[in-house]
Amino acid sequence: MHITAGTQRCPGAGQCVLSAPDRFDQSEEGTVLLLDGRVDGEAEEARLRGTVALCPSQAIALEV
Ligand code: SF4
Repeated sequence: MHITAGTQRCPGAGQCVLSAPDRFDQSEEGTVLLLDGRVDGEAEEARLRGTVALCPSQAIALEV
């Protein structure tokens, strides 16, 4: 499982960066930058599912 991030859908709300700054950053334009897409283990999956749920535009996701 890994994280995907689509900048075209991202209005730059920044919730992902606040929730998981080890995985996400924002570009100068404010759109999401994926720093690390790995999802290792159930605890990490649960944590990052919470982050994905915060995104108001479904720009980030967990995929197999
Ligand atoms: S939470 Fe969603 S909309 Fe906000 S910066 Fe992250 S990916 Fe973009």
